Amino acid sequence: MRSTVGIILGTGAESTVARLGATGHQVGTPYGDATVYRASIGNADIVLVPRHGLNHSRLPHRLNYRSVIWALRATGAHRVFASNACGSLRHEWAPGTLAAPHDLIDLTRTLVTFWDDEQVGDVAHAHNDFTKPYCAAMRAALIHAADATGATLHPAGVYLCVDGPRFETAAEVRLFASWGADLIGMTGAPEAVLAREAGLCYAPVAVVGNLGAGLGGSISHTAVAEACQAATAQAVGIILEAIGRIDAQLCTCPCVVPPEPPLP
Ligand SMILES: [Zn+2]
Repeated sequence: MRSTVGIILGTGAESTVARLGATGHQVGTPYGDATVYRASIGNADIVLVPRHGLNHSRLPHRLNYRSVIWALRATGAHRVFASNACGSLRHEWAPGTLAAPHDLIDLTRTLVTFWDDEQVGDVAHAHNDFTKPYCAAMRAALIHAADATGATLHPAGVYLCVDGPRFETAAEVRLFASWGADLIGMTGAPEAVLAREAGLCYAPVAVVGNLGAGLGGSISHTAVAEACQAATAQAVGIILEAIGRIDAQLCTCPCVVPPEPPLP
């Protein structure tokens, strides 16, 4: 049985689009068109979204997250993997480190939700359970896939999300680390929130591009992109391996309680 799986990628998405021979398509949504790239591997149809565009022309706080998640659901991709570049709040997680976060802290100030009408007809669905923001079954698939590919993937971590586009201050890094956060990024929370609202399973691989401010090392987009290049390729390899493993593992997935929640 074939499945359709979404993949949202950041910097370096171009090489994956080329590697999979994916072809571009426009998907109309109530929030504007989304450009997706479609390909097939094994028994899976892949719907790939370069979140910043293929030429990395869109910043995290200006991304049309609602359009992307809506488009993924419209194409039938009810399981969505992602690769998110981020900073490390831990000395021992150096640039190039990969992790499968198990929880998040959302400090973004930009309201991102499908439930933003003044009158909401379905309050029960709007106040959804977000105790576990990521799909446990997909995280397990990622962890097993990393083992199979020989990659080192930390099996847990707390991802803290800010709007950006600036990097954080040293005091913020000390504070966030004291809260128990391990990683800091700018894209993971909106995607996780909207995926849950849309009834999609979502699990990211966090790719460390820099140590947080004050922990040492270089902090610039160029340095981050360079540090992420090899690690992102490794993350994509893990995701593609995981896609071949998820059919059986997701049969009891608790993220999507049928019938799927209606979007407003
Ligand atoms: Zn799930």
